Amino acid sequence: YSGKKPGSDITDTMNNMKVKDFQSIPIVVREDVNVYDAISQMFLDDVGTLFVVDKNACLTGVLSRKDLLRTSLGKQDLTTIPVHIIMTRMPNITYCMKNDSLIKAATRLINRQIDALPVVQEHPEGLKVIGRLTKTNITRAFLSLSESHEL
Ligand code: ADP
Repeated sequence: YSGKKPGSDITDTMNNMKVKDFQSIPIVVREDVNVYDAISQMFLDDVGTLFVVDKNACLTGVLSRKDLLRTSLGKQDLTTIPVHIIMTRMPNITYCMKNDSLIKAATRLINRQIDALPVVQEHPEGLKVIGRLTKTNITRAFLSLSESHEL
């Protein structure tokens, strides 16, 4: 016996997968950063979603690739537009917690038709961003299932 779990346990394994086991490092920008610099940040860190935080490092918004592209279609100077003008803002942000099941997080990604969820922790000042959960993390989890169950 190889130590790998037989196929019948796959449901248990899936239900036990947590956000914290698959999350990535969050890439954040401050609200007053301009759109030009946010685009540079997105390329530098090779991510598709940036999380926007206030001076207490608490979540205030989300910036997707298309949010930034849409703004770039305009004729304005991107260095003069702060990201808080164009971001999707709280309380309209869908997020998750590190102990949430991966199934719950995946359901949120699909239902909201978004690419990423901030992983947050509650603090007196607001929600601190501690991680990033993307469709790539879900795909990795899917693959890890096939590996641990020798599918
Ligand atoms: P893209 O717009 O590049 O296809 P998304 O599908 O992730 O990327 O984003 C679609 C829209 O939803 C964008 O306007 C973005 O700001 C917003 N959005 C992205 N992630 C979240 C989230 N976790 N909660 C709420 N809105 C989000």
